[in-house]
Amino acid sequence: MCQPIIVSGIEVSDKIKQDIAQEVEAIKLRGGKIPHLAAVLVGNDGASQTYVNAKVKACELVGFGSSLVRLPETISETELLKEIERLNNNDNIDGFIVQLPLPKHIDEQKVTQAISPLKDVDGFHPVSLGKMVLDLPSFLPATPYGIVEMLRHYNIPTEGKHCVVIGRSHIVGSPMSILMARNSYPGNCTVTLTHSRTKNLKEITLQADILIVAIGKPEFLTADMVKDGATVIDVGIHRIEDATKKSGYRLIGDVKFDEVAPKCAFISPVPGGVGPMTIASLLKNTLLAVETHDYASQK
Ligand code: NAP
Repeated sequence: MCQPIIVSGIEVSDKIKQDIAQEVEAIKLRGGKIPHLAAVLVGNDGASQTYVNAKVKACELVGFGSSLVRLPETISETELLKEIERLNNNDNIDGFIVQLPLPKHIDEQKVTQAISPLKDVDGFHPVSLGKMVLDLPSFLPATPYGIVEMLRHYNIPTEGKHCVVIGRSHIVGSPMSILMARNSYPGNCTVTLTHSRTKNLKEITLQADILIVAIGKPEFLTADMVKDGATVIDVGIHRIEDATKKSGYRLIGDVKFDEVAPKCAFISPVPGGVGPMTIASLLKNTLLAVETHDYASQK
């Protein structure tokens, strides 16, 4: 039993947003281009609307310009691709995201690959992911980038540690495993990437110094799967009904927080952990997009 240090995404993301807001002020003073992030939202999914609204609000907070492009659930793939082309060619927009998931009749891979790599602030384009693997400067996928920044902020030791990632999605688990294995800080871990075909998962998680849980199953990680003194980062977000809340629901993660926390040296909560960091990373990537465009135009 120990008193864990709570890895607060709210604290870290507030600091990042303050730094970005200062940078925007400096850009204004030198008469530069104010960063502008656009978000494309297809359909009326409640969770997606909440995420997109939070992203737009964060832009306003730091002084970025923002646009929300709302499109109907029934939009064809061709029409959506045309909209993406318009955003690619719009000089006022430095970066944009297409909120996932998309309706079933639209191929997400096609959409992701249609976004200009220069405006790919979600970091999902193959060019961004390829650069990440090669350790070249690039837009890092927003959620793994946020986790790296949390580990850095709390000075969590990573070198030589065994990091176990649960989940191998293209947007979280896989890029996370690559970042944790990089020859830098945070990184230099020995990484095990686990998924639904992994045998004896508990034997593996019990060896983890750092556990990054992105499985998408509410409270999946229980205390008996965690070694004493581990660092646990919970990526999951689930809405569960709760009549005591005004909204009618509350958020929980992929980790059974109350029983896992006493075993940990560091643990991130849900809400208030990885979620706010994902948004902060998106803002960081948008700032990087402006700098990259400036550099490209000066060449
Ligand atoms: P996903 O695409 O559904 O991937 C889930 C992964 O978990 C898959 O790789 C799957 O393996 C693996 N898995 C399923 N059952 C397993 C088992 N029994 N043992 C080991 N691995 C298993 O999920 P995602 O998009 O990465 O998201 C994960 C969670 O994070 C969700 O709750 C999501 O809402 C949340 N999320 C949060 C943020 C944020 O900003 N906080 C951002 C993104 C996602 P297979 O590949 O074999 O199917």
